[in-house]
Amino acid sequence: MAIRILGAGIAGLTATFEFARTGCDVELVECRERPGLGCSFLAGGMLAPWCEAESTEKLVLDLGLESLQFWTESVPVATRQGTLVVAPARDRAELSRFARRTSGHEHIDAGRIAALEPDLAGRFEEALFFPSEAHLDPRAAMAALAARLASFANVALRYGVDAGPASAGWTVDCRGLAAQDALPDLRGVKGEMLVLSTHEIALTRPVQLLHPRHPVYIVPRGDGRFMIGATMIENEEPGRITARAMLELLGAAYCLHPAFAEAEIVETGAGVRPAFPDNLPKIRREGRTVYVNGLYRHGFLLAPALARRAVQYVLEDAYFPEVMDAHPRQRQSA
Ligand SMILES: Cc1cc2nc3c(=O)[nH]c(=O)nc-3n(C[C@H](O)[C@H](O)[C@H](O)COP(=O)(O)OP(=O)(O)OC[C@H]3O[C@@H](n4cnc5c(N)ncnc54)[C@H](O)[C@@H]3O)c2cc1C
Repeated sequence: MAIRILGAGIAGLTATFEFARTGCDVELVECRERPGLGCSFLAGGMLAPWCEAESTEKLVLDLGLESLQFWTESVPVATRQGTLVVAPARDRAELSRFARRTSGHEHIDAGRIAALEPDLAGRFEEALFFPSEAHLDPRAAMAALAARLASFANVALRYGVDAGPASAGWTVDCRGLAAQDALPDLRGVKGEMLVLSTHEIALTRPVQLLHPRHPVYIVPRGDGRFMIGATMIENEEPGRITARAMLELLGAAYCLHPAFAEAEIVETGAGVRPAFPDNLPKIRREGRTVYVNGLYRHGFLLAPALARRAVQYVLEDAYFPEVMDAHPRQRQSA
């Protein structure tokens, strides 16, 4: 079967991979000159399904566990060192609240924090440790996926080409926010981030700093680089990072460790996350086009699980009520 995938963000790349693995002939069409330059370029790369349960539905945990397997087995680019969640002493109530709303964690003391992250010794009295969580470098992960796809004989990669008119076969639309033209309830949620560089501090796993106003995470990228993210703002303006966001992100990094004050700011950026009103991902169909979208703040965490469902929907008429509005038997004829 011939499948055309639109958009080489994390949704489109994982969909191409999963369709190709079934033996379909897949054409991946991306309007930019390289894959992964959309919202996915700005992601932190947290694969934290248990932590996410604090603020989202159990669906994200279930799909996230499936995707974790993808990132550790099918395309093994993730590091599984867990996530550390800490709070300044004045915000300790936040840590208790976070613990009540999540599972899969251990409550650890200062000694264990120091054993896990020696550079945080003496900085926090307690923390939550989520040992089974993972993280990845989004840009490296997408490059690895794209390289795998380039080696498949049944995949054609077309970069720098706009989608163009629909073809006769199935189309899987993974255009992220650009699919607003077909998905009117899709909105953008801006996320600002920055990357710091310093060799004064080392971390081996993501650390989330709780704060009543803006929880912030710091993801180690290796070679002394740290991604600090991310704001959540209800607007669709890409690119520009505000002074307020910069202050808040830098303040959180400084609160985690004062050594970040001497770090070099090597990158700032803002992406717009595609989200549906309930902030949950969806697979929708219109004619012979299947839309995979609404990955919101969980693109890397959810895309592999969504891709697998899209394949089973197209090839086997499978029905996944957790991400689909209608049963495939109600499909419109092409
Ligand atoms: C600051 C920030 C931090 C984040 N941190 C995390 C995190 O830690 N973990 C996590 O899981 N998620 C995170 N996310 C969320 C994640 O980045 C998004 O959910 C994800 O990138 C959405 O992927 P996508 O493939 O749907 O969209 P995109 O990445 O935007 O991809 C869509 C692609 O379609 C292409 N396109 C558009 N129009 C056309 C057309 N007409 N023809 C062909 N191609 C087209 C675009 O060029 C683009 O490449 C974060 C997001 C932000 C902004």
